[in-house]
Amino acid sequence: MTKISVVVPCFNEEAVIDRFDTRIREVLADLPVDYELCYVDDGSSDGTALRLRAITAEFAQRTRYVSFSRNFGKEAAMLAGLREASGDAVVIMDADLQHPPELIARMLELYERGHDQIIARRTREGDKKVRSALSRLYYRAVNRWVDVELTDGVGDFRMLSRPAVDALLSLPEYNRFSKGLFSWIGFDTVTFDYQNAAREAGETKWKLGSLLNYGMDGLISFNNRPLRIAIWLGLTLVGVAALYAVWITVTALTQGVSAPGYVTLVAIIVGLGGVQMIMLGLIGEYIGRIYYETKRRPHFLVRETHRSFMGGVNGRRAAGGGRVSLVATDREM
Ligand code: UDP
Ligand code: MG
Repeated sequence: MTKISVVVPCFNEEAVIDRFDTRIREVLADLPVDYELCYVDDGSSDGTALRLRAITAEFAQRTRYVSFSRNFGKEAAMLAGLREASGDAVVIMDADLQHPPELIARMLELYERGHDQIIARRTREGDKKVRSALSRLYYRAVNRWVDVELTDGVGDFRMLSRPAVDALLSLPEYNRFSKGLFSWIGFDTVTFDYQNAAREAGETKWKLGSLLNYGMDGLISFNNRPLRIAIWLGLTLVGVAALYAVWITVTALTQGVSAPGYVTLVAIIVGLGGVQMIMLGLIGEYIGRIYYETKRRPHFLVRETHRSFMGGVNGRRAAGGGRVSLVATDREM
């Protein structure tokens, strides 16, 4: 029997997590599959971890649970969930019931037809007009610049086959822009549309600022094309300046020297200064990424897992994940 793992990153989802758990278990129980739920508490500051512990204790056979030492972000939480997942197919979904659990049936159907990535793409119906217009604009710009294809409305809600999951797990980078990673690994991909539901409870973790930062990640983390653009822009400016110099020289020779153009001069200096700042920032952005990658820090630190607190071996002490446990074994050796 096919086993499905459902990976659920949770950050301050106390208000909705129980409802989510009930719904998803109902849906999965109706499907002809074996299943497990992999909950990741992303360092929540409310009672999410407590709720997840209770769920784990109640459904010990079919639940895996990892709790981070602090908030590491959804990308890290998804990574932890994928590492935990043992199923033949893995579904990634949000805890807030914006991703309708019923769609898993449709995904399973497509999975059994042999697809490796089954993506549920949300339509933007019912979204705020400004936000969806901005998103559309952004995706158009990104797809012109970025090497991998990103599609509007395609988020993290998807089912992945085991080979696709293993491919994702084999990518070691620290800066994980999952939309890009999903697209980068390729495999046989299908997409179907669904209507996004409103959040059941709690509130979104995306402020405008973090959305803008996320957008910047999308532009930069996948290629060096922005640097290429910097070079082209530089060359264009040099070309324009050369033409201008020729023009000035010719007019000086034919009409004699005059020296107006103070405003033009200032405008050009300030403008070019701005361009240089932007380009420096851009280069800095890439260097910053290199800096973080070279540190080779783990993507997240684990505070406890279903193994540590269910196992009873002194609860929290037994917790350990990624680097933490590696360090311990290194010392023992
Ligand atoms: N999430 C997370 N860590 C974070 C932020 C969000 O694990 O730092 C989870 C959150 O609990 C939810 C999912 O990611 O399950 C999507 O978050 P949210 O609903 O806030 O985003 P939106 O649906 O508004 O894009
Ligand atoms: Mg949401």
